[in-house]
Amino acid sequence: MAGRISVSERLGADAFNSDKTSHLRLVSDDLCRSCPRKPCITVCPAQVYEWEPGQNKLLIHYENCLETGACRVACQELGNKSLVWAYPGAGHGVQYRLG
Ligand code: SF4
Repeated sequence: MAGRISVSERLGADAFNSDKTSHLRLVSDDLCRSCPRKPCITVCPAQVYEWEPGQNKLLIHYENCLETGACRVACQELGNKSLVWAYPGAGHGVQYRLG
């Protein structure tokens, strides 16, 4: 349909002002190691979470966070409840340009 903007185009227009430290924390790496499904990885639309087999740990690319909170729900409901979710500090995080 003419005039419609795709999700990719909308996300591509977003800007990020990353904080120096992550606003997403883990209670412990061990909880993530033993998390059977690691739903944070699949539910995040921004691919913030990555399992790094070489380090045997969950990596968090917080700079890409879209602040949907989907990972928070997934971790609490389906995961091992290791994720401590918060918004980035004032003035930081995603800036949506096209809604
Ligand atoms: S869902 Fe939670 S406990 Fe499981 S890997 Fe992700 S952050 Fe860790």
